[in-house]
Amino acid sequence: MTATTLRTQVAIVGAGPAGLTLSCLLHNAGIESVVLENRSRRYVEERIRAGVLEQGTAEVLAAAGVGERMHREGIVHHGIHLQFAGERHRIPLSDLADGRAIVIYGQTEVVKDLIEARVDAGLDLRFDVADVSVHDIETERPRVRFSHEHRDFELECDAIVGADGFHGVCRPAIEQHLRIFSREYPFAWLGILAAAPPSSEELVYAHHERGFALLSLRSAERSRLYLQCAADERLDEWPDTRIWDELQCRVALDGWTLVEGAVLEKGITPMRSFVTEPMQHGRLFLAGDSAHIVPPTGAKGLNLAISDVTVLAEALVSSFTGGSRTGLAEYSRMCLRRVWRAEHFSYWMTTMLHRLGDDPFDSQLQLSQLRYIVSSEAAARTLAENYVGLPLGHRAATPGR
Ligand SMILES: Cc1cc2nc3c(=O)[nH]c(=O)nc-3n(C[C@H](O)[C@H](O)[C@H](O)COP(=O)(O)OP(=O)(O)OC[C@H]3O[C@@H](n4cnc5c(N)ncnc54)[C@H](O)[C@@H]3O)c2cc1C
Repeated sequence: MTATTLRTQVAIVGAGPAGLTLSCLLHNAGIESVVLENRSRRYVEERIRAGVLEQGTAEVLAAAGVGERMHREGIVHHGIHLQFAGERHRIPLSDLADGRAIVIYGQTEVVKDLIEARVDAGLDLRFDVADVSVHDIETERPRVRFSHEHRDFELECDAIVGADGFHGVCRPAIEQHLRIFSREYPFAWLGILAAAPPSSEELVYAHHERGFALLSLRSAERSRLYLQCAADERLDEWPDTRIWDELQCRVALDGWTLVEGAVLEKGITPMRSFVTEPMQHGRLFLAGDSAHIVPPTGAKGLNLAISDVTVLAEALVSSFTGGSRTGLAEYSRMCLRRVWRAEHFSYWMTTMLHRLGDDPFDSQLQLSQLRYIVSSEAAARTLAENYVGLPLGHRAATPGR
């Protein structure tokens, strides 16, 4: 069967936050793209993942014209809590970070808003595609082959963006040109979505001798709760009662109660740090989880995906509109400084808050660091600045370095 040839300016593989946001930013600037996603629309819209937007991320989405529901339903938070040694301490993020805040708005909702905007505008977004492969990326006419609705297609374009997550096909296609940095952690997160109003207005990060726990939320009626568990933990060993008992134990505080509710969803997320350098080869550009992974303790994965594509959109628009092509050549360098800052912050939060093993020395170091953060404004400010997200300007390395 011969393939039908299609043509666009930018072929985007993956309809996660990175791919969808990029397609939106490009469309707003008059640049054509086609988005190819190998899952169904329903699957993509219901995949429960991140939920903390840095202020900069919320601003990018609002400026792109997809922030109306986020403004209505998102919950602005000005602080988080650290809990350890039986005490809970508030870190006033906004006071410490020039008034900046975070917005609680689920990744599922961000993705729904972006899909709706693209579908309403009648733009090309294909779900349930199969056999995606990238070709001729070292030429001026790269191509993506795929099949859709039992037909084969060849999509000619000027640039391909691999926004297809950690397990996608784009990074492996150029792996021989990349340097990979990675670290696996010997633990994972067991996360639940519960039909229960949040027991704490703001997020609580709890360090406990039995392991880390996090109280988060998605709305006034939905709590999102996490427990540190073993890297090879099996979900069937965690009936709901065991999850609630463990959460009750790790976040217990005198005079405060954790409200329980029906468990609507549960899953295990592995903990990994991963960076690829560079984030591009020829006319293929990687963005979001396809280029880097952070453990979720710093709430950075989704935010990094959005900052990557903000940089990439600017560079693509400039190259298509007769401006400088330097932006595209410099894309990776522009992103990596911010990526490594987020990597370090996520690693630092992870190793400070999780049970690392049985060595009491580790545990004393963790407690010392936590006490320092809640007693030193300078230390708390470091956490706050990183948590709310450094300005997008924090992206380019100093020339020559
Ligand atoms: C299981 C899980 C749980 C997470 N939980 C949290 C959390 O609790 N808190 C937090 O801060 N962060 C969390 N994250 C991180 C955050 O969700 C990611 O950083 C974010 O989704 C990155 O967006 P992305 O668009 O780069 O990648 P993705 O969201 O992974 O999107 C990539 C898209 O590409 C599609 N795709 C893959 N292969 C192909 C192919 N061959 N062809 C076409 N399409 C393809 C995928 O189906 C997907 O839709 C989690 C991540 C995962 C994987």
